[in-house]
Amino acid sequence: MPSPATGTVRQLGLHIDGHDVPAASEATFTSLDASTGEVWARVPDGDATDVDLAVRAARRAQTETWGAATGYQRARVLRRVARLIERDQERLATLEARDSGRLLRDTRTQVGFLADWFNYYAGYADKLAGRAMPGERPDMLVYTRNEPIGVVGAIVPWNAPLLLLVWKLAPALAAGCTVVVKPSDYTPVTALALADVLEEAGLPAGAYNVVTGFGPRVGQAMTAHPGIDKIAFTGSTETGIAVGQAAMQNLTRLTLELGGKSAQVVLADADVDNAVNGIINGIFLGSGQTCMAGSRLLVHESLHDEIVRRVAARARQIRLGSPLSEDTEMGPLVNEQQQKQVLDRIAAARTDGAEVVCGGGVPDGLAGLFVAPTVLTGVESHMPIAQEEVFGPVLAVTTFSTEDEAVRLANDSRFGLAAAVWSQNVHRALSVAHRLRAGTVWVNTYRAFSPGVPFGGFGHSGMGRENGLEGILAYTETKSVWVELAGRTKDPFDLG
Ligand code: NAD
Repeated sequence: MPSPATGTVRQLGLHIDGHDVPAASEATFTSLDASTGEVWARVPDGDATDVDLAVRAARRAQTETWGAATGYQRARVLRRVARLIERDQERLATLEARDSGRLLRDTRTQVGFLADWFNYYAGYADKLAGRAMPGERPDMLVYTRNEPIGVVGAIVPWNAPLLLLVWKLAPALAAGCTVVVKPSDYTPVTALALADVLEEAGLPAGAYNVVTGFGPRVGQAMTAHPGIDKIAFTGSTETGIAVGQAAMQNLTRLTLELGGKSAQVVLADADVDNAVNGIINGIFLGSGQTCMAGSRLLVHESLHDEIVRRVAARARQIRLGSPLSEDTEMGPLVNEQQQKQVLDRIAAARTDGAEVVCGGGVPDGLAGLFVAPTVLTGVESHMPIAQEEVFGPVLAVTTFSTEDEAVRLANDSRFGLAAAVWSQNVHRALSVAHRLRAGTVWVNTYRAFSPGVPFGGFGHSGMGRENGLEGILAYTETKSVWVELAGRTKDPFDLG
């Protein structure tokens, strides 16, 4: 819970067992306001000692309070959480915009989604029934139970900190798990702010704990901790692989939501107006810093010039500015390192032969970590700009002449998070959609998601699914119970 601001810099504590506490080492680090670059919060720099305290608190709550509650009791608390989030929407959205640099209007929408996620999973908390098995053996009753996996370590990135946390938190709590969260060191504030809301709603102490700090200390301490039963991770593919390797040492359960290089496939019969808006939404929303960014445009050769001209024209008009201004359409990147990485990738693409149609650098006249909305043509599938995640406002355009070629190019990627197909012919659109190797395929739309629809990646985009029924089952272990009904004493060497 954030304590009252001291001057303009908030002093925050870790959240462990219902209390706001300093790190055991008393070390701290600062979080910057993304739009001004100024220090606006000081948070504890946690380490393995703090993780251990948080895991012990989470274990107690899992066995004694939250995990021992009925699904009906859990559902009531989660519905109250949803109501309090709606009440606190503006406060949480403003904190999120300042900490992450996302537009205030985006964070308002995202905070609205948080309530949807808690309401949706509240609906599962009292309906997580196992099933009875009709068997060959009439003398046996067999049924399954979906038991909570236990203590969950949730590790989240900076690009949509609260939303991606709640994709884990709502189903985990609904299933009866307790949680230790490690937010990104770039955006540590809102995970702490959420503790207030959860505890006001009646979540018992220890069910939600937050340890702020850095990946190599707090994150690694979590993935190596034998008291954590499951790691739910969202972040880059490289970190995800390291997390997976560490988790395997204890056979810790795992879901991984990782990077992407999603293809927007525009077939020759696409509705151009609709496709242009979808392409803009896919790559420039959130300044391209979204896992599901549609960063590869694969366009039929007959539409290439028209689509590129219209996308570039709109891209040049995108209103760049402060995330807190209502007029802004695209804000800055999250930090200097990210800005440099994006600019380096554009420069490398030019060297490889791509042509800059618009953008390509830092826009004039703006203070802050901006990169102009960029469209690159002449991109070939083997180039790094077509293969590597940029995580910035950069669209790489490639043409194709047949549907087979479009499918081949779209699938020529180690990632497989999302894709879109634009076509007015439903048969053609679905035939292509079914051949794409991606966890989500949108047809004539982009970026639709909902608590009820599974989300996750093929290939290097991840492992497992969040949201929907899959999303809550991922926080349970299935137990099969066999009950002998005949009351007979069996021959020990009779297998039947
Ligand atoms: P990141 O991998 O650098 O960090 C993610 C989290 O892991 C952070 O909290 C970080 O501190 C922590 N971490 C770092 N090293 C660790 C380690 N060794 N052990 C444990 N934890 C460690 O990612 P990022 O830069 O914060 O986020 C951007 C990435 O996240 C992009 O690749 C993006 O595509 C991906 N992402 C994926 C999804 C999805 O749903 N698939 C959603 C959003 C973002």
